[in-house]
Amino acid sequence: MARFSRPKGTQDILPEDQRYWEHLLNVVGSTARDYGFERIDTPAFESTELFARGVGSGTDIVEKEMYSFKDKGNRDMSLRPEFTAGVIRAYLENGMQVWPKPVKLYSTGPAFRYEAPQAGRYRQFHQFNAEVIGVPGPLADLEIMLLAWDIYDRLGFKNLAFQLNSTGCPVCRPTYIKTLQTHYHEHIDIICDDCRRRIDQNPLRVLDCKKGQCQPVIAAAPKTTEMLCDECDAHFSELKGYLDALERPYTLNHRLVRGLDYYTKTVFEVWAEGIGAQSAVCGGGRYDGLAELLGGPRTPGVGFAAGMERAVLVMKEQNVDVPELPVPPVFVVYLGETARTYAVKLLTEIRALGVGARIAMRGGLRSQLKQANRRASKLVILLGEDELSRGEVTLRDMETGEQSMVPTTAIASVLQERLGA
Ligand code: ATP
Ligand code: MG
Repeated sequence: MARFSRPKGTQDILPEDQRYWEHLLNVVGSTARDYGFERIDTPAFESTELFARGVGSGTDIVEKEMYSFKDKGNRDMSLRPEFTAGVIRAYLENGMQVWPKPVKLYSTGPAFRYEAPQAGRYRQFHQFNAEVIGVPGPLADLEIMLLAWDIYDRLGFKNLAFQLNSTGCPVCRPTYIKTLQTHYHEHIDIICDDCRRRIDQNPLRVLDCKKGQCQPVIAAAPKTTEMLCDECDAHFSELKGYLDALERPYTLNHRLVRGLDYYTKTVFEVWAEGIGAQSAVCGGGRYDGLAELLGGPRTPGVGFAAGMERAVLVMKEQNVDVPELPVPPVFVVYLGETARTYAVKLLTEIRALGVGARIAMRGGLRSQLKQANRRASKLVILLGEDELSRGEVTLRDMETGEQSMVPTTAIASVLQERLGA
């Protein structure tokens, strides 16, 4: 006999966990809308070429982590490993260039990366994602940071650390990279093998190496922020000025980098305490070169992506207040076959009033009442044949134990009164 288990790195989100997800999605959606972001949904798969360009063919994501396949028309497709490439593709394809700027978009949904699974790291995971497109100035960076910030704030998260850096632009970055390479060549005997390779292939990435032997070299490395061109420097100063004026604390972290040319200026991450090694709950930054790379006109943009599984871990770890999902207040039980048919009719009438209701589907009266109790129904409506012949039902309040007879013609008004419906 075949027995199946879920694919490695995936999760079943069971009913008991859904309240966390529902709350998270509600807070994300309502905060994003309050701040003027509009929802966009793009496909969960796109052409592989889009991600090769948009995420970068030299990145771990594209080189090792994508779920890629040929469809039956022999097209190269990949499950999305992140959202931004698809959102910018949709922006260009749907003519949003002519919309008033900024165009502010948010999304939520699954993403897929073939990674080594561990707590907080999965192969199918979920992100909420936001982009501010079309504005080159730092108010857009600020807006994207404030959205991330306030979502976590509304969720009640504590002890978050905002990490901030600027990695410059194609004007100033080449000079920085040369200086960094010189520094690393001076310490070539100390650094790890990976960094020896990286220093020529993907130099910025040496800055986030985790190996012990590389730490002193990283600590002494030149900082991107020391070598910004005037424009990048002014942009960064203005952004920090807003954050300071708003008294939003952040930590300058010169190790925060993105390896690719189309990422420009601002980079940030949000770290959470207490969820183990995978502590980054959110990563973002500016990508002024991306739209052009995807075949569109030059279009500035800044955005973030945030892990939802990690946010749920924080919710649990920090005992965040998460509302219970509502249960239908009415449970209908019955005694005998005639009553059962009437009970089904009554069930649909109650539902038609917009009141949540369930019916017992098995068992005698005692067992039905137990089911109602176990499922935390507030009101039980009991239909017995004698009462029905008198045109009445029994209404029991499960919280007070109080019981009364209600004429069938008055059920709607009594429910409305009792439930405030
Ligand atoms: P990490 O350094 O943890 O691998 P990343 O830099 O790859 O993160 P991004 O691509 O910036 O992450 O994605 C943004 C956020 O999405 C991360 O901060 C994290 O919360 C979440 N995330 C990324 N990969 C995974 C994964 N495999 N499983 C669960 N969440 C993830
Ligand atoms: Mg990663």
